Amino acid sequence: MPRIDFPLATSPDMPAATTVVVIGGGIVGLTAALELAERGIPVVVLEKGRVGLEQSSRNLGWARKMGRAAPDVPLSLASDRLWAGMAERVGCDVGYRQQGIMYLARTEDEMAMHRDWLASVAHLDLDSRLLGQADIDRLVPGGRGKWAGGIHTPSDGRAEPTIAPFAIAAAAMAKGAVIVENCAVRMLSLSAGKVSGVVTERGEIRCDRVLLAGGLWSRRFLGNHGISLPTLPLISSVLRTRPMEGPTEIAVGGPDFSFRKHRDGGYIVTQRGALIAPLSLDHLLIGMRYLGSLSGNRSLLRIRFGGHFLRDLMLARRWNAKSVSPFERVRTMSPEADEGINAEAMRNLTAAWPVFGKAVVEEVWAGMMDITPDSLPVISPVAAIPGLTVASGFSGHGFGTSPAAGRLAADLVTDATPVVDPTPYRLSRLTKSGDAKS
Ligand SMILES: Cc1cc2nc3c(=O)[nH]c(=O)nc-3n(C[C@H](O)[C@H](O)[C@H](O)COP(=O)(O)OP(=O)(O)OC[C@H]3O[C@@H](n4cnc5c(N)ncnc54)[C@H](O)[C@@H]3O)c2cc1C
Repeated sequence: MPRIDFPLATSPDMPAATTVVVIGGGIVGLTAALELAERGIPVVVLEKGRVGLEQSSRNLGWARKMGRAAPDVPLSLASDRLWAGMAERVGCDVGYRQQGIMYLARTEDEMAMHRDWLASVAHLDLDSRLLGQADIDRLVPGGRGKWAGGIHTPSDGRAEPTIAPFAIAAAAMAKGAVIVENCAVRMLSLSAGKVSGVVTERGEIRCDRVLLAGGLWSRRFLGNHGISLPTLPLISSVLRTRPMEGPTEIAVGGPDFSFRKHRDGGYIVTQRGALIAPLSLDHLLIGMRYLGSLSGNRSLLRIRFGGHFLRDLMLARRWNAKSVSPFERVRTMSPEADEGINAEAMRNLTAAWPVFGKAVVEEVWAGMMDITPDSLPVISPVAAIPGLTVASGFSGHGFGTSPAAGRLAADLVTDATPVVDPTPYRLSRLTKSGDAKS
C-alpha cells in the first residue's frame, strides 16, 4: 500500500450511545462525519481496520467531472467547490490543485466517445473541450504518440489520497466526532424494525441513525440483513515514481496508461486499459446485471479465477451478533499489485512520452473497487430499514466526489435539504422490488 503522509491518532474507546454511527472510515464516511460534527451532531465512526487504508488512500487522486454520466456531474461540481475550501476547512493542504485532466484517443472510435460525452453534458456548461494533435503536443510537450485527438477539462484536478482522508478524519475529531479503529460493526440493532444501534466486536452502541459507508463490504453487510446492494469488485494496480522532470502538471489518461504528478514531484502511473476482475460467487449471483456496462469495456478486464474466489467463499454471508463477522477476518483488503500490468503501464507511457524512460519506480500497490451495474454510487436511505442510509458503490471514481457525497449522505441522514438532487443515487434503481427486503 502507498506510504501514508499523515500521522493520525484515533480514540481507544467508544461511547455507549450517540446520534449517528458511521460504519466505515473511508473518505466517504469521514467527509460525512466531518459534516455532521460541523453541524453539532454527535457522530461515531467505526472502522474495522485502520482509517483510509482500503480504497481511499490507494486511489490516483483524480477529481474530475470529465467522463462522468451527466446526472453525476452536479455532485462533482459541488465537490470542486468543497475541495477548493478543504485546506482551510481541515487546516491542512490536502494537495488539491485544479491543474486539469486530459484524455487521449488513439482511434476515431475513442474520439467519438469523447464527442458523445461532450454532447451529453452540453447543457451543464463545463469547460471541457476537444483537442487535436497540435493541442496535445503544446499542452504535454515531448510526446511521440500519434493521437486521433483528446479532450481536456482545465478545471478538473487532483488531491492527495495519502493525506486527504487522514486530514479530514483529524478535523472531524477536532470538531467533536469520535473515530474508533479496529472495531468492526457486525450488524445493526433493530427495534420494531427500525435502527436502534449497532453491534460491534466490542459491544453495542445505541444510536438513532446509521450511515453505512463500508465500500466494497457494504454489499455483504446489507446481505446479512436481507438487502441486496449489487456491487462487484475490480482491482487496479498502481505505481509511483521517484521525483523527476515530467512533461506537464495536467493529469493525462491514455487508452493504456495514465499519469499524474504527485506532490513530491514524482508521478502516479497506471495501465488505464487493464483492470483485474477477480471472480467470486457474486459474479454468478449478479454478474448478468453488468452485461450492459460490459459491452463497451470488455477489453479492459483481465478475468482471474483463483485465490480471491476461495478466500471470498470462506467468508460468511450470514452471521449473527455473537459470531465473528467477515469484517473482523479481513481488517484491510489489500490485493497484490500486478507487476506485469504495471510494467505494461510504464512501457506504454514511455512509448508515448519517452522522458518516462528515466523514471525510477518508488512503490507499487493495488486497490479493490466496488462497482455498481450503472457505475453510479448508492447514496440513499434504505426504505426497508428506517434509520439506515447507505453511501457505497462509488465504482472507481468516488475520491473526487467524496466531499459532496459525504455532505449528501449527512443531509440524508439528518433530513436536511440535499446538496444536490439525490435521485440518481437512490438504492431502488438497482433493486428489483424497490429497496424492500430481498
Ligand atoms: C487503485 C484505485 C484508483 C482509483 N482512482 C480514483 C481516482 O483517481 N479518482 C476517484 O475519484 N476515485 C478513484 N478511485 C475510487 C476511490 O478510491 C473510491 O471510490 C473511494 O475511495 C471510496 O471511498 P469509500 O469511503 O466509499 O470506501 P473505502 O475507502 O473502501 O472505505 C470503506 C471503509 O469501510 C470499512 N468497513 C467496511 N465494513 C465495515 C464494518 N462492517 N465495520 C467497520 N468498518 C467497515 C473498510 O475497512 C474501509 O476502510 C480509485 C480506487 C482505486 C482502488
